[in-house]
Amino acid sequence: MAHEYFNCIDGKWKASASGRTFEDLNPANRTDVLGLFPRSDARDVDEAVKAARAHFARWRQVPAPHRAEIMFRAAELMVKRKEELAALMTREMGKVLKESRGDVQEGIDMTYFIAGEGRRLFGHTTPSELPDKFAMSVRVPIGVVAAITPWNFPLAIPTWKLVPALVAGNTVVFKPAEDTPLMAQRFVEILLEAGVPEGVLNLVQGIGEETGAALVRHPDVNLVSFTGSTETGREVAIGCAQRHARVSLEMGGKNPIIVMDDADLDLALEGAVWGAFGTTGQRCTAASRLIVHRQILRQFTDRLVERARQLRLGDGMLPTTDVGPLINEAQLKRVHGYTEIARQEGASILTGGHIYTEGDCARGFFYAPTIFANVSTDMRIAQEEIFGPCPAIIGVNSLPEAIEVANSTKYGLSSAIYTRDVNKAFLAMRDIEAGITYVNSSTIGAEVHLPFGGVKQTGNGHREGSPTVLDIFTEWKTLYIDYSGRLQKAQMDNE
Ligand code: ADP
Repeated sequence: MAHEYFNCIDGKWKASASGRTFEDLNPANRTDVLGLFPRSDARDVDEAVKAARAHFARWRQVPAPHRAEIMFRAAELMVKRKEELAALMTREMGKVLKESRGDVQEGIDMTYFIAGEGRRLFGHTTPSELPDKFAMSVRVPIGVVAAITPWNFPLAIPTWKLVPALVAGNTVVFKPAEDTPLMAQRFVEILLEAGVPEGVLNLVQGIGEETGAALVRHPDVNLVSFTGSTETGREVAIGCAQRHARVSLEMGGKNPIIVMDDADLDLALEGAVWGAFGTTGQRCTAASRLIVHRQILRQFTDRLVERARQLRLGDGMLPTTDVGPLINEAQLKRVHGYTEIARQEGASILTGGHIYTEGDCARGFFYAPTIFANVSTDMRIAQEEIFGPCPAIIGVNSLPEAIEVANSTKYGLSSAIYTRDVNKAFLAMRDIEAGITYVNSSTIGAEVHLPFGGVKQTGNGHREGSPTVLDIFTEWKTLYIDYSGRLQKAQMDNE
């Protein structure tokens, strides 16, 4: 019988109001059940929001450096448990162990970095236009924050949201993805052990359309911070708009790598393989379009196919594995559906294109590394986010054409160009419509102290990571202190 886990509401671990649960499966072996988790509904959400509201008044008055000290302790616990957390992550969501270690490390880095903000949280002072008057603006917390997170970075992304929300003085209701509830459970345990007071952080597990939607609708949630698909993000934004709640959205991508004819081809190939097949193509920053100059198209394509065929699929815990499974059966079917779409659209499938069931892989959700070629920008496989190991290769004749193709989707998260020509690199940096552009590096590799986020339908203008994340989790309060002892009128007394 699988272990049963609970929600954490006001410091108490409890089952869902309905008593219903859902299973957490290992995607490399669907018979391996990691646990049963509460399938929460609006009642559980309401209880969690009430607890978060009740604790806000006290938490916002804890000095920010003290709130941040708790986060430093949490980071230290993550350092101690890094190996255990990474192994659990691989078992729960499938990515290879080395990548899971990277995910945990990113969580550690983010937690240390944002904890440093506890002694900054800088505001502004500026001269008043009137004598004997002082003017300044300070950051204040927003209130109850709902954090809704995806499964692909099950530790790192929760740190991006929970740590700045808490350091800034908000209280939190955390709704993690239903595919990775156990990583969320472990992270909450760490934060509580580090000293986050009861009720300041509440965990409600459950299905997106039930638990997540109830959180988005709840009238007492002041801010929803969401990372996930563009379609769900739209629903979240609509829900928030109806009651004028703040919302930060981090959504899909269709990230291009441009490979120019002067590129270091070996380097570009390494970047393409890592960008397209790392995390089985399930990163928001995965390289899903390879825009290649026709002078080198043939050579690049042949070598990429050869590399893709060499990738070894398997359980991410095995040292021999290069590519792990997809997250679940629905995603396996969806990715395979795109192979059918590619066929119908007239693209060539140079390798892969099928569900992979060799040996032990039959137990999980594996998809053979796939390459689509002869792709044109109007095809769905060149426009839609697939979230699988199946990049599309698009041939171009010039840099302007490459940039036009790069910009031809509704998304704009990450991007990259491989070139040895500094002029081309600068043109690409200026003209690619994306939140992130790499030069001579893959679309993957964001560092925590730089802004992370995208343009167009990837986001709604916010940037996580770096101090810019504070603009999501705080708002500005302007303070005027008149010490003249008389009524002074701005815009009038100094005529
Ligand atoms: P992905 O394709 O990465 O699973 P989703 O956008 O479906 O992305 O899910 C991201 C997060 O949003 C998950 O925690 C999921 O449970 C949650 N979610 C899904 N649907 C909704 C919804 N209608 N309202 C709020 N949250 C949702």
